[in-house]
Amino acid sequence: MSKTKYIFVTGGVTSSLGKGIVSASLGKLLQARGYKVTIQKFDPYINIDPGTMNPYEHGECYVTDDGAETDLDLGHYERFLNTPTSQANNLTTGQIYYNVIKKEREGAYLGKTVQVIPHITDEIKNNFFALGETGKFDIVITEIGGCVGDIESLPFIEAVRQARWDLGDYNSIVIHLTLVPYLKSAGELKTKPTQHSVKQLSEAGVQPNILVCRAEYPIPMDIRKKIALFCNVNVNSVIQSIDADTIYDVPLLMKKEKLDEIVLEKLQLSTEPEPNLESWKGFLGKLKNPTTEVQIGLVGKYVELPDAYKSIVEALIHAGAVNECRVEVKWVHAEKYEGDTLKKQLDEVDAVLVAPGFGERGVEGKIEASCIARRTLKPFFGICLGLQCAVIGFAREVLKLKDAHSAEMNPNTTNPVIDIMEDQKNLTQMGGTMRLGSYNCKIKKNSLANEVYGKLEISERHRHRYEFNNQYLEQFEKAGMIASGINPESGLAEIMEIKNHPHFIGSQFHPELKSTVENPHPLFVSFVKAAIEYKAKK
Ligand code: GLN
Repeated sequence: MSKTKYIFVTGGVTSSLGKGIVSASLGKLLQARGYKVTIQKFDPYINIDPGTMNPYEHGECYVTDDGAETDLDLGHYERFLNTPTSQANNLTTGQIYYNVIKKEREGAYLGKTVQVIPHITDEIKNNFFALGETGKFDIVITEIGGCVGDIESLPFIEAVRQARWDLGDYNSIVIHLTLVPYLKSAGELKTKPTQHSVKQLSEAGVQPNILVCRAEYPIPMDIRKKIALFCNVNVNSVIQSIDADTIYDVPLLMKKEKLDEIVLEKLQLSTEPEPNLESWKGFLGKLKNPTTEVQIGLVGKYVELPDAYKSIVEALIHAGAVNECRVEVKWVHAEKYEGDTLKKQLDEVDAVLVAPGFGERGVEGKIEASCIARRTLKPFFGICLGLQCAVIGFAREVLKLKDAHSAEMNPNTTNPVIDIMEDQKNLTQMGGTMRLGSYNCKIKKNSLANEVYGKLEISERHRHRYEFNNQYLEQFEKAGMIASGINPESGLAEIMEIKNHPHFIGSQFHPELKSTVENPHPLFVSFVKAAIEYKAKK
């Protein structure tokens, strides 16, 4: 067994306690002490990955460099640790069963009955250890999705129990997240849900070492003692996690509670040196002391559910901090507004961002929003479908191709300015078959893209089936909309921009997936800057 130490993070009482943020914050603190850390997530649902799920079901689908469609928590891991994740960082029940069933068909278990224990749990454990066994990490944090007590979580909890035996003393710990609710009528913080949730975990053979208790109010010592007594943990291992102003405060809040120190002691790892959080604090300082403010209209169709645009919102926060600017997002429902009402919605904003998406719903609103930004010279940024909408709007209004559309929304248009990619035409499988993951892009000299990136070669992450139809490129470029970023292998247009506009740019890729606290994405940084300049002129 490798020297890697393992931290398992489970959750109880309710979902949405912020396991992902706590895992990412702990990872950050350990990394800031010099440990090599990675974080992985195991999701109990049966889909192979969230790529086939609606954002209403699952929030944003995060994409890694190697093209895995993953849980949005991986976005937090990358944003906090500033290191890329991969396919290996997100596993689901579906994938585990798929692997086992494939092996069964290959004859790997010949003669045996294939069962949850040991075959499924072995497969889970192999994946628990896979990243550690690369030798690249001192510590692997494994977040178990869902709640303890859910039927579908059982094999994962059982695998944690077994893994802890396999690893031996001091090589693993379990951190359990719970809720300590405040009952207004009683005027009290209540520990019973935590007691029950720990009891449930213990019944499955897993005794947590540390409890992170989510609470709306500080948890006083007497309550911590009570939790410690009933849940069989040290009182200093009862950690409070209070609602924070921003998720980026959580590493510091966890440090104040000494979470990292307690973890290291339990794993018998050195607690020297103290974490170096200088750049993190520098970011927080800027985030909390803005000198200006802008409002950005985010036009999308899942605006009721901000989790659907998680990485975009976070990238705007990173870019705001760089510019010492508070970015207020105005959510604009692409389906609800059109014509004058849409124009009114966008009148007050300082810049327009049209979001990615799939399918017909809301698309006319998005096209219209891009046209409004073009006509009013408002900074515009289109991401994936957002760029495609800007292309359609330009074709209809400037090139006078009235029925221009994307073949996705109107397969019969005579002007498919956005068309299906060649290699997407004959697919019969929907899962994992889009153009996914990192692709190189060459930037045109002296373009806005060149100015934004300050270089000519970049690599960005994709997730789409449609592309700009290069048959129209000459017509577009003549009229002032140019392809300023091109894939060197396929010739696909990856970035497009309008020349006689202060800031009108769109990308076929998803830059938001690569924005981190330490590396805010240049496309977002320049977009916020353009919004500030627009507002100043206004
Ligand atoms: N629906 C578009 C496509 O498949 C855009 C996808 C996206 O915005 N991620 O090309």
